[in-house]
Amino acid sequence: MKRILVAEDNESNYVLMTYVLRNRYEVVRASNGKEAVELSDQQQFDLIMMDMKMPVMDGLEATRLIKEKHPDLPIIALTANAFETDRQATFEAGCCDFMSKPFSREKCLETIAKYIGE
Ligand SMILES: [Mg+2]
Repeated sequence: MKRILVAEDNESNYVLMTYVLRNRYEVVRASNGKEAVELSDQQQFDLIMMDMKMPVMDGLEATRLIKEKHPDLPIIALTANAFETDRQATFEAGCCDFMSKPFSREKCLETIAKYIGE
């Protein structure tokens, strides 16, 4: 089973995500950007879902740091803010795709499948 690291500080958003991904992918949680960086060094993941707004270290900075060491690892940005400038910033940081909250289950699975299959 492919492994996904979900970096999300909000408990209910994370729980929702586990319901969407369960039975399809193995899910590991990071509660902030710093944890995401550390976990991506310690464990093997096929993809990362990265919330942009998190305490300690935000998603943009975490994405930059992770991409330095793992340039081929797909990182999908999750954000509550769908303005074009934000989208641009996530791509510049190294994200390959972008989902603005709230997103549907279908949209989520479809976006992930583009990068690592079902
Ligand atoms: Mg957040």
